[in-house]
Amino acid sequence: MFSITKKLTFAAAHRLNGVKKCENVHGHNYGVEITLGSDDLNKHDMVLNFDQFIYIEQWIDEHWDHAYLSAANTDQLNLAMFKKVFFLGGKPTAERMARCLFRAAQDIFEPTGVTVLSVTISETATCSATYSE
Ligand SMILES: [Zn+2]
Repeated sequence: MFSITKKLTFAAAHRLNGVKKCENVHGHNYGVEITLGSDDLNKHDMVLNFDQFIYIEQWIDEHWDHAYLSAANTDQLNLAMFKKVFFLGGKPTAERMARCLFRAAQDIFEPTGVTVLSVTISETATCSATYSE
């Protein structure tokens, strides 16, 4: 199988209620790595043209960039103070974000015939979480 990987970055805020150091609202310059795979190459001898990653970049810009990532049910904050909020349906950890972006990437890329192999979200240069199926 061939695979290609695109790296992206965005900034967002979150808090992890019940996780000592992470309970206060704080931000990360998140890193993203999306890996797509295909058994065959397309007519241009590519898995997919890298310019097609613009669609997942647009998804991140629309939903996550400079947003407050919220757990909603456990947040206990006045969310009206944030102009842009994204609900992750649970604590906004890198693990949960990786699964969420994996699903968004499936919706975007799999109609083109490629497979989403993994999505990695980094909170720092040395800490990341990966989701794959
Ligand atoms: Zn954090």
